[in-house]
Amino acid sequence: MISAREALERLREGNCRFVSGVRSSNILTSQTRRNELAAGQEPFAIILGCSDSRVPAEIVFDQGLGDLFVIRVAGNIVASSQIGSVEFAAARFGTRLVVVLGHSQCGAILATLEELQQPTDYQSRNLRSIVDRIRPSVETLLATELRNDPDALVREAVRANIRASANDLRHGSEVLEQLVQNSGLLVVGAEYSLETGVVDFFDPESLISSIVCRRLENPRLAAQVHDRATRRMIWIAFIAAKSEALSSAVTKAKQSKISCCS
Ligand SMILES: [Zn+2]
Repeated sequence: MISAREALERLREGNCRFVSGVRSSNILTSQTRRNELAAGQEPFAIILGCSDSRVPAEIVFDQGLGDLFVIRVAGNIVASSQIGSVEFAAARFGTRLVVVLGHSQCGAILATLEELQQPTDYQSRNLRSIVDRIRPSVETLLATELRNDPDALVREAVRANIRASANDLRHGSEVLEQLVQNSGLLVVGAEYSLETGVVDFFDPESLISSIVCRRLENPRLAAQVHDRATRRMIWIAFIAAKSEALSSAVTKAKQSKISCCS
């Protein structure tokens, strides 16, 4: 089984292909591949994602049959069955990367914010169980100035919920804690942008920098990547550099004052 970091890199490369419109060939879902997998699976990453129809993990990461062990639930919440599913895959298949994949404009987050701001009695018990999982991570945001900026509030609530789910996986299971401490299991949060198709991983800055810089084959860039917005632009520039949209990416990068990309 490949390491968590190799798996992360593979996901990044797949998302790069997805964003640039350069999809893998049908070999990923071919009869040959089906035959190979009939004997068993060895998924290289576990994805806990939202059920939203616009964020299918295999597509946004450009992966094929047998590559990803995917758990989908509205709001990418973590309840016992999600933890059990992650434990199963990590222990059974030796998969070493877990990604909690949330996304912009998540309906479950919007529903939770609506419920917190204008409580109703009409919500079903089952739907309420989802809202109640999301509530703690977004409730505190309503006590800040963010309550006066609806767009920023939703944006931050999405990210807070992703972080909360990642933490719940890291600390809500002895099995997973042991795997993190002793066997190189990595649990990272990530946000998919409905608008751009880019997946933004919340992993440590050093990891992001090293991967981006290796991709751009410019070691000096590492020291220049300071903030998330800049990293995102560099990543978009790299993606576009691999497609026919190089010139527009350079223009975008220049607009963001990233001279090193030109
Ligand atoms: Zn969602």
